Formats: sequence, C-alpha cells, structure tokens
Amino acid sequence: MDKEQVKKMAKNPNNIPGIYNYCDRWCERCAFTSRCLNFSMSEEEFSDPETQDMQNEKFWEKLNETFKVTLELLQEMAEEQGIDLSSLDLEEGAETEKQDRKEVENHECTRAGKRYAKMVGEWLKTSKPLFEEKDKELNEKLQLELPNSFPFVEADEIEDGIDVIQWHQHQIFVKLSRAIHGRIDEEREEPDDYPKDSDGSAKAALIAIDRSIAAWGRILEHFPDQEDECLKILVHLERLRRKTEKVFPEARAFVRPGFDD
Ligand code: SF4
Repeated sequence: MDKEQVKKMAKNPNNIPGIYNYCDRWCERCAFTSRCLNFSMSEEEFSDPETQDMQNEKFWEKLNETFKVTLELLQEMAEEQGIDLSSLDLEEGAETEKQDRKEVENHECTRAGKRYAKMVGEWLKTSKPLFEEKDKELNEKLQLELPNSFPFVEADEIEDGIDVIQWHQHQIFVKLSRAIHGRIDEEREEPDDYPKDSDGSAKAALIAIDRSIAAWGRILEHFPDQEDECLKILVHLERLRRKTEKVFPEARAFVRPGFDD
C-alpha cells in the first residue's frame, strides 16, 4: 500500500474519525470495523494470511513497507504544518519526559492497574488444574445427557469470561497510564472547553474494568470454590474503578466517537 492509497482510505466519508482512539482494539468483536480507518488499513496491509505470521519473512517485509509509507506521510504533514523534524531539544525534552513517566508510574491508578494484571496472571497460572477438572466434569455431563444440564452453554460462558479477562488484563493499566500522562500534558496547556483525551482514555479503562468485573462474576458462578480468590480480585477491581472515577470525574460523560454518539 502506498502513500496515495493511505490518503484515499483516510478520506473515506464512511469512516468515523478517531474511533480507534478510545476502543479496546478487539476488532473481532467490534461493530464498527466497516467504519474504522485503522481496521481497513490493517485489513489491506495484512489480508494475506502469510503476512500475519510473525515468523514469516513477508510479515516483516510488510511492516517495513508500512514504516516507509508512514515516514513519507509524516514528512509531508510536517512540511505542511511547518514542523522541523530535525530539531530535537534532547536535554529539556528528555528530563521532562523522565519526570512525567515517573509520575505516571507512581500514580495510584496505574500502580493498581499493574497490580491487577499481575493478580490475573497469577490466578490463570494456578488455575490450570481447575480448568482441566471442569473440562472433565462438562464432558461427563455431556455423556450422561442429564435433564436441565447444558454443558455447551457452560463451556461457552467460561471461555467467554476468560477471553474478556485476558483481553483486558493489561489494557486497564495501559489505558490508565495514557490517561494520567494525558492529564499531565493537559495541565501544561491553556485550559479550554474541548473534550479531554485523558477523560477518553480513562473512560476506555473504566469500560475495560466494568467488563472485567462482569467476566469475573461469570467465572465465580462456574467456579464457586474459587470464591476467595475471585473476591480478592473483584475487590481490587472495584476499588480501582471507584478511584478512577474520582480522579477523572468527567470520564464517564466523555463521548467516544462512534461508540457513544
Ligand atoms: S474501532 Fe473497532 S475496528 Fe477500529 S481498531 Fe477499534 S476495535 Fe478495531
């Protein structure tokens, strides 16, 4: 795909501008793939199954191609907007960035988001025998054909719950980090009435938390023996949800393009 193709795609009036900025990147489950520039570009770039294979040389060739096109577009945009891509205030920029990163890392919300990802990782690791046991149990139910027993539904619900938990496991931390970083940048700018990117990112994190809480509830239904562990994680998530809403009181009201309007 060359620069002109990218520009043509970007001009498609059917696209919802910026929809991909506050989504969860779960394109397989997204209702807006046909209106998302990000999705159509990746489809175009990686439609050949061989290009999706990280081990395959073609994948890296494609990535290299994308790099060149992105660089060309960047140069063109910089020229149009009078941005000097050669000047780099290393000292000042690096020091500020270092301080900002530290602030983001030490923020209560990001630390709690990171902790959550770790808790999930630990639970998934120790729960392997649990899943094997459940698999056995569901297979037995299937063979016995018991009345009012729906092993397929049960299996789907468990799988779906785990998928949701895993998809958002690290995303909560990532979205919260972006929200905190955005807040730091915004505080340096002149205040205005425009919607804040930090609120959009915080909203994406909150939605990921809501969905994860629901998924943990489902896991708890199917693994009642795991009450203590699930409850520990749920309490942590609920505290993080409340804290995030307190730190970003406008986040829930943020209108995400496509999803909320
Ligand atoms: S908006 Fe939907 S299609 Fe686009 S990147 Fe996000 S999840 Fe994928």
